[in-house]
Amino acid sequence: MGSDGKPKAFHQTPAIVGLTGGIGSGKSTVVRMFGELGVHWVDADDVAREVVEPGTPGLAQIAEHFGQDILTDEGTLDRAQLRQIVFANPDERTWLEGLLHPMIRDELIRQLKPEGYALPYVLLVSPLLLETDQHNLVSRVVVVDVPVETQIERTMARDTNERDQVERIIAAQMPREKRLERADAIIDNDRSLDDVERQVRELHGKFLVDFGY
Ligand code: ADP
Repeated sequence: MGSDGKPKAFHQTPAIVGLTGGIGSGKSTVVRMFGELGVHWVDADDVAREVVEPGTPGLAQIAEHFGQDILTDEGTLDRAQLRQIVFANPDERTWLEGLLHPMIRDELIRQLKPEGYALPYVLLVSPLLLETDQHNLVSRVVVVDVPVETQIERTMARDTNERDQVERIIAAQMPREKRLERADAIIDNDRSLDDVERQVRELHGKFLVDFGY
């Protein structure tokens, strides 16, 4: 509280806490719980889509580089085709990443500074937080953790994917142990949602203290 009895407005730029985890670990579930406590969050996957929406400089440059055939009839990015091209051609992948990564980074930084925000930290949710330079943006890393078997079962149930498809995605991601080594805090999501909510409230309280609320 300020001396006038109103909640203290936070004039400093809020700290950025990164939240990551493998596919189906529960990132979206956990970040929604932080959101209910008033924490502002930005999803890096959403931003990665936003920078190539129709009308963006990102999409215009991709169409200029790869030709108009990279667009669907509706004028959106043909992601499946783009994936095939960069999968087969590392130089094109490098070109694409050189274009998109700085754009994504700039847009993340912009969205992570909400107007009139009263809490001392915000969350950056990203499956690739530790694999990309996004980790340089954050002052803490929170890992949402479940055993691989839980990860597989929950992803299969959510996306109606085959087991081997999910296993392939997991194999391409950072291994669980390595991710945990990089964690400043861990949310154990192999629990009931009530228990996870308790962990979220506890961590929120700790961040309010750590970041000087
Ligand atoms: P991510 O965003 O990391 O891919 P989600 O938050 O979408 O993961 O969680 C994967 C699936 O598991 C979703 O269908 C979600 O509802 C479910 N889920 C997440 N946490 C729990 C939990 N503690 N108990 C039961 N189901 C859960």
